[in-house]
Amino acid sequence: MKNSIYITLFFITTTVSCQKSIPLFDGNSAFNHLIKQCELGPRNPGSNGHKKALEYFLEILNPLADTLFTQSYIETMPRTGKKVDMNNVIARFNTSASKQIMISAHWDTRPWGDRGSSIMEKNQPILGANDGASGVAVLLELASILKENPPKIGVSLVLFDAEDYGSSGNSWTYCKGSQYFAKNLPIPYPAYAINLDMIADKFPEFYVERYSYQQNPGLVLELWEKAEELGLTAFKKQAYHMIFDDHVPLYEIAGIPAIDIIDFDYPNEKTNYHHTQKDIVANCSPEGLSQVGTLMVHHIYEQK
Ligand SMILES: [Zn+2]
Repeated sequence: MKNSIYITLFFITTTVSCQKSIPLFDGNSAFNHLIKQCELGPRNPGSNGHKKALEYFLEILNPLADTLFTQSYIETMPRTGKKVDMNNVIARFNTSASKQIMISAHWDTRPWGDRGSSIMEKNQPILGANDGASGVAVLLELASILKENPPKIGVSLVLFDAEDYGSSGNSWTYCKGSQYFAKNLPIPYPAYAINLDMIADKFPEFYVERYSYQQNPGLVLELWEKAEELGLTAFKKQAYHMIFDDHVPLYEIAGIPAIDIIDFDYPNEKTNYHHTQKDIVANCSPEGLSQVGTLMVHHIYEQK
């Protein structure tokens, strides 16, 4: 009898401590961060929204991160020739841990559309609810979780500026913030990087992006298998698009084995709101944020 009580108590303790070790990720709370960014207007470099968004990120992250700093530099904008202050934002947690990883997203939005019903519409800055605000929304929510639940590993959350003013067909004119970061690495060399981009559409489907599988196949398999185990059905264990995103400069310039979680079909294969005036809050949902955030939380807190 004594033995069985002991076993029962032990079981309860194990269950409780297990639940406690993996915090919940709140997709609605992350979605609120997406809405807040969009309320600032387009965040294209040099705009008022760009300045305000930087202030917003610093205000939120300052009380949460163990170390917070910006990596500033100046870029000359194409089309206008204007010199603009760019800032990558770096929020670090558990800086003294021997294992360090980074999770990133770009925070700027595209200064013009690529398609539109008129030249006027096409040339307006886009709002970037999905392409810009979505990855950052998950990072800001993760920051609160990391503050409340100090991780065993070191995590750097990196918000890249200047990802999205490149010219179509010329990949290296994109991702300027991550290129600068990779050339002037401001953190200890991370074991790998996970970049998040376009993760908030209403029909989330995260296929394996092809550069990611080339750059870090082990991490891709680990994450997509974990997603399957957790019942995160938006993750599809199948390779699909090949997309030049911030993970490519991280690997090509700094040698960081980086991957990208991205849903490029926004919302589906036939229609794409990417780089158009339709990239707005009404075309987004918390579902993808919730699934990606849940996977990130399990990935961080299940490390030994
Ligand atoms: Zn874009």
